[in-house]
Amino acid sequence: MTRILKNYINGQWCESSEERLRDVINPATGHSLARVPAGSKEDIAFAAESAHRAWWSWRNTPASLRVQYLFRMKQIIETHTDEIAEICTGECGKTFAESKAEIVRAIENIEVACGIPKLLQSDFSEDIAPGIDEFYIRQPIGVGASVSPFNFPVMIAFWFLPYAIACGNTYIVKPSGKVPLTMTRIFELFEDLNLPAGVLNLVHGGRATVDAILEDPHIKAVSFVGSTSVAKYLYQTGTAHGKRVQALGGAKNTVVIMPDADIDTTVKIITDSAYGCAGQRCLAAAIVLTVGKAGEIFTEKIVRASGEKKVGNGMIPGIEIGPVITRESKERIEKLIQKGVDDGATLLLDGRNIKITGCEDGNFIGPTIFANVDSESEIYNTEIFGPVIIINNVDSLEDAIKLINQSRYGNAASIFTSSGAAARKFRHDTMAGNIGINIGIAAPMAFFPFSGWKESFFGDLHGQSMHAVEFYTQTKVVIERWHEEWTRKF
Ligand code: NAD
Repeated sequence: MTRILKNYINGQWCESSEERLRDVINPATGHSLARVPAGSKEDIAFAAESAHRAWWSWRNTPASLRVQYLFRMKQIIETHTDEIAEICTGECGKTFAESKAEIVRAIENIEVACGIPKLLQSDFSEDIAPGIDEFYIRQPIGVGASVSPFNFPVMIAFWFLPYAIACGNTYIVKPSGKVPLTMTRIFELFEDLNLPAGVLNLVHGGRATVDAILEDPHIKAVSFVGSTSVAKYLYQTGTAHGKRVQALGGAKNTVVIMPDADIDTTVKIITDSAYGCAGQRCLAAAIVLTVGKAGEIFTEKIVRASGEKKVGNGMIPGIEIGPVITRESKERIEKLIQKGVDDGATLLLDGRNIKITGCEDGNFIGPTIFANVDSESEIYNTEIFGPVIIINNVDSLEDAIKLINQSRYGNAASIFTSSGAAARKFRHDTMAGNIGINIGIAAPMAFFPFSGWKESFFGDLHGQSMHAVEFYTQTKVVIERWHEEWTRKF
């Protein structure tokens, strides 16, 4: 019998009030794994009310006690890494190694949040006037919620969740409806935490659920990660309802190769960056700009290395590229490839029509490379979110930076060079929030903010690190006067 997923609210598993369900499909095999509720306003109201009820007592639990739950959370995830990774690969398609890698990233965020007793400390100014001191304290804001995309079923919720609860907020997690099984299993494992009921809640659903999060009066802060159009909608709607919102959007990242870049490492790193998670990473290399002679040196080598990548079911050892998430996604990417051809770009490698034995119903696309792409064209400017890259040649580093800065997105950009001066100029002048110097995926560690600029981010404070702590707390300023003569009265 097909499993129907439940929500976890107020310390208990409960059925959604919405009867409509959608299938959760293994993208490598096309098999249905479970059915997930489409979600409802009532589900969110129930979760938000429970989280709100739990908040006051959780807020008053000392931070040093709150982090004890996080220490156990880290242990639980570490102990069950392989099991969680297998579920993640099953519903998301990425390779088993990629699933394990994102679990490590989630754990790193729990570790950083374990430092919350220190991170919550503030500034104190003695004697701002005679006998008067001033300081601030950071206090939690209430109920928070996260809304995640499909491409990191584990990691992304942990850019926010550990900080939110460590700071004394209660929380609701809404995973992507395409990959709800991984977080469901994590919440099953979290039952062993024995957190007070209502502190952590899991609610499945799609647009109706998100709209309910944006409107619910108990929910004070929302962390979103997903496509730019939805990020913008969430930011505008959430803030219009008086909530704090941080909304991380889509991307189209450029990597620049200078002629003096180390050949082997550059080719390996760029192809890993472009095709890891089948190109479904917000930090994936999507455009490669070779500068001057770098075009002759690198293009052919990148094409050759791309053609050698092993595509298939991510659970099979040695596979480097799994399927894309859905059949619709595969069709959308294939249409964009055709559009590129029709618009006159040169197709150097075509990953369409790839056949994977034993996975005939999977959503596979092989590495695909275009050259000579018009920078005004649709494929140059659209986030393809698949294993498709563009390699264009430009005359100078200045031309490359200009092209990057023209993009509506600003998630990440990288340069490959052995020149410190070129690297410094790139770091200084490029309008993107995460910069890589001889790094293909400039993914910040948990103790740095996951930056992102332009239409890759809406808000002020990013996920991870002190940004997350600041997002999930409000500062209360206290000015105190204690006259010595008052003491003498006793
Ligand atoms: P998506 O925008 O379709 O969905 C993200 C979440 O929003 C899901 O939970 C979904 O249920 C919900 N949602 C979808 N449509 C909605 C709507 N109209 N109203 C309200 N909620 C809605 O994104 P996706 O396809 O799951 O993920 C891929 C996107 O996420 C890519 O654009 C990628 O670049 C982006 N992403 C960005 C980052 C980053 O750090 N900036 C990280 C990972 C992914």
